[in-house]
Amino acid sequence: MIEVSSLSKRYGNHLAVDDVSFSIKKGEVVGFLGPNGAGKSTIMNIMTGYLSLTAGSVSIDEFDIIENPEEAKKRIGYLPEIPPLYTDMTVKEYLYFMYDLKKVSFPKKPHIEEIVRLVKIDNVYNRLIKNLSKGYRQRVGIAQALIGNPDLLILDEPTVGLDPKQIIEIRNLISRLGKNHTIILSSHILSEIQEVCERIIIINSGKIIADDTAENLSKNLSDDHTLSIRVTGTEAEIYKILSSVSGVKDLRFVGSKEAGTVDYIIEPKENCDIRAAVSERLTERKKTILSFRSNEMTLEQIFLRLTDAADKGTQLFTKATPKTETEEKDAPKVKVDLESGEATVGEATLPEKEDK
Ligand code: ADP
Ligand code: MG
Repeated sequence: MIEVSSLSKRYGNHLAVDDVSFSIKKGEVVGFLGPNGAGKSTIMNIMTGYLSLTAGSVSIDEFDIIENPEEAKKRIGYLPEIPPLYTDMTVKEYLYFMYDLKKVSFPKKPHIEEIVRLVKIDNVYNRLIKNLSKGYRQRVGIAQALIGNPDLLILDEPTVGLDPKQIIEIRNLISRLGKNHTIILSSHILSEIQEVCERIIIINSGKIIADDTAENLSKNLSDDHTLSIRVTGTEAEIYKILSSVSGVKDLRFVGSKEAGTVDYIIEPKENCDIRAAVSERLTERKKTILSFRSNEMTLEQIFLRLTDAADKGTQLFTKATPKTETEEKDAPKVKVDLESGEATVGEATLPEKEDK
């Protein structure tokens, strides 16, 4: 349904989108994930014909966005980062206005009323847009995107600036729409993308640095699972014992948080489950394990590793490229609890990463 090939966009000297290619099949719900300034909006603006491209091509249902803009645009409903709302109009006036702009063939009144019911704005239909809450305005923005029944919805940060309750409502609406639309959704919030999208395209500094399902993204890095252990003994003693276990690739002394104990991070060799061996060896040497857990990577950590590696000019993986030693050492061992609770979306915001 969508083919983006070798797309680049230059603003003056600044390459905001750098040789981006991907294709999206009908019915897919895809998330563009990336920090602020990554190039998400630029890509979306180009895909929807609002912005020119420097190189490459975009086609929607085989219609090229430059050569056949009308046909391509007919298939797209777009909610830009800042929805083009005329705030002095009522919701009804605005939607009628947008209908006329889009030259839609469906009968006006029933078509708009159906959308209004679908996005649940019937209760504010005759209110002025300027008097609506941000959540309602965003829904009006989505309603405008739905006019003409486009197959493809492109939604740029649809929940930005909303409160947790509104976020859940918009997210549910997007999930509902995803049942019979192809959707591309951008966000710098991981939990949001994870919640709604089957596939995640991670964008950083204008480049795609990963493109996979959330599950596979985690799996591909699962070799990186390290183990954290707190055990009685001294730094040197425990180092000696742990390094004698085969399957241990690397050991990092973290500190001594309780008297008479040390904390280590153990990195196993690839595909090695060393938990039993570590535990047995320590017990043999009469050491007491006070805590022992594996550090599974959250999507948030994966994201940070990927963007960090990309910023350093190295590539951690795009579909399973083996890592190098230096990347291993340089990778940030960040610990972020990604609450999956619905109301805590705001906490999972990624750090800002403006382009230099
Ligand atoms: P995102 O949507 O991921 O936050 P954008 O696509 O808005 O990122 O921006 C990508 C990069 O392009 C940023 O470095 C931004 O500063 C730059 N940029 C965006 N729009 C313009 C513009 N109109 N003129 C110059 N630079 C721009
Ligand atoms: Mg943006």
